[in-house]
This record gives sequence, C-alpha cells and structure tokens, in this order.
Amino acid sequence: MTSNPPPAASFADQGSTGDITTPLASEARDHVELARRVESTPELEHPTGTRTFVVANQKGGVGKTTTTVNIAAALATKGQRVLVVDLDPQGNASTALAIPHSEGTPGAYEALVDGTDLDELVRPCPDIAGLTVLPASIDLAGAEIELVSLVARETRLDKALQSYLVECADAGDRIDYVLIDCPPSLGLLTINALVAAREVLIPIQCEYYALEGLGQLVRNIDLVRSHLNPRLEISTILLTMYDARTRLSAGVADEVRAYFGDKVLKTAVPRSVRISEAPSYQQSVLTYDPSSSGSLSYLEAAREIGQAAEHRKEV
Ligand code: ADP
Ligand code: MG
Repeated sequence: MTSNPPPAASFADQGSTGDITTPLASEARDHVELARRVESTPELEHPTGTRTFVVANQKGGVGKTTTTVNIAAALATKGQRVLVVDLDPQGNASTALAIPHSEGTPGAYEALVDGTDLDELVRPCPDIAGLTVLPASIDLAGAEIELVSLVARETRLDKALQSYLVECADAGDRIDYVLIDCPPSLGLLTINALVAAREVLIPIQCEYYALEGLGQLVRNIDLVRSHLNPRLEISTILLTMYDARTRLSAGVADEVRAYFGDKVLKTAVPRSVRISEAPSYQQSVLTYDPSSSGSLSYLEAAREIGQAAEHRKEV
C-alpha cells in the first residue's frame, strides 16, 4: 500500500518527530527543522569589511553559478549589500538575476579590457533589494585572449573592483559581500577572479568523480597565493546536489569533510528540481519558490557564511 506522507506542517504541530523512520517522512522532518532554523535568523550582522569570494571549481556543472546566484540572493535577503561579478562569458548568473546581457551589453569585458569604471557597468537586480550585478556577455570570451597582451593582465579585475568598493564606501553605501562567478577553466578570467578575491568558495557536487580535480584546484590556488595574492584562502566548501537517499552522496560528503574539515558548511544543498528550474524564469530559487528545500538550504548556508564573519571579528 502506498500513502502520501502527512504535510510538513503537521510534523511541526506534533512537536515530537523522533519516531518517524520512512525516507519521505524523515525528509519532511528535515525540511521542517531547516525552515525553523532559517526563520530564527531573519537578518545577519554586517561584516566588519567587504568580504570578497571567488566561487571556483574548474569542473563544469558542479553548481558554481547556482551557488553564486543563490548565496548572493540569500545574503541580500538577510539585509546585506551584495555584488555579483559574472566572469563567465555564458552569462548564466546574469540570466538568473534578470540582468540583460546580450552581445554588446557593457559589462565585465569593458571593465577588464577597456578599464571602464564598474560604476558605469553594475546593474541592480530587479527582484532583490540590495543585490547588484556586473553582467557578462559573450564578448567576454574574447577577453581571455585579449588580456594576454595587456599590462598587469592578472590584476585588472582586482584594481577595478577595489576602486569601485572604495567609491561605494565613500558614498556611504558599503558593499558587504562580493561573489565572483568563474568559467569552468583556469585561464586568465579565473586568475583575475582569484587575485581579486580574499576567500575561495568551492562548490562540490555530491557525485562520483566529485573529488577528481580538487587536488589540482587546491594546487592552483596555492600558486596564485604564492605569486599574486598572499591573502587568498579557501574559506568555504559547499556540498551541492546532495541526495540524502544515496550512499554515494553521504560517502562524498564524508570524504570532503575528512579533507577540508570545518571549512565545509554543515548545510548541504539538496538535488532539487526547483533549483534547476529557477534560472529559466530568470530567477533565483529564493524568489521562484521561497519555501522549497533548495531555497531554505541556500538561506541556511548563507547564514553559516555570515556567522563565520562574526566569529572572525572576535579572533
Ligand atoms: P557550473 O556553474 O559549475 O557550471 P551550474 O550552477 O550551472 O554549474 O549547474 C549545472 C546544472 O545543474 C544547471 O543546470 C543547474 O540548474 C543544475 N543544478 C545546480 N545545482 C542544483 C541542485 N542543487 N539541484 C538540481 N540541479 C542543480
Ligand atoms: Mg557556471
């Protein structure tokens, strides 16, 4: 006999859920617990200075763009001022945040190659207050080659970003978080992002082969740290596309936690149809389906990131 699980709310009403053992029921229970945790922290404290993250993993399809967009949306929802820098010529982050980025639209290319002020290029996300975007159009694909012959080719984003951040702070509009979305390669665009950032956020897909290539990524980050950006650190690992029902996901999560320790956020983002549908409506999952498990887990991951900043203040 098959029967649908009771709606999630009824678990909350019962108060005690300890004796529920079926997979669907325990998923529902986890969802209610996650919703409770998220509701308990509507706002985050502002960090003492702007925190700049590069969202990196040279593998494609591991959730870099999804993580950039939804962590940015979650931080903004929690009262933070956030800038997303789209550094992938495909412009998927720009699409998901409803920022026009057709060929010829000024954006990251002009900032990197022409040295245009970010002030002229950054656009507000129409759906989420406090969230702004430096868009990427397909023109950025050419930058990878054009940068090679330019002066200070690795530090151009850093320079543009730093002067924009100072401008914003001087205008009384300090940006709390910058998230840079990278293409799936380790070319000059990604190097510019690694030089401009202080923290690396690595999304890791809970799939077979997930750990393959991570050693290379860590070595490349070490190289950038020793030659170009001594302040760069891997601060945050986020497990994505987690499927609680498979041993594979749990196994990958265990291995990642054994390697990276407490840099791995406690919250893992589940594999969720709502997360993958949202970009086709030019939305983050937070605006597309705010009460979905995908939305709640990104909100909770953002809270963990924000509270790591509070912890750092004390150190
Ligand atoms: P990357 O930027 O690393 O190439 P994306 O963020 O574009 O990866 O994600 C790759 C694909 O996986 C996209 O189609 C995206 O919608 C989907 N995806 C990402 N995260 C999830 C998730 N948690 N559940 C389901 N689909 C996801
Ligand atoms: Mg991407």
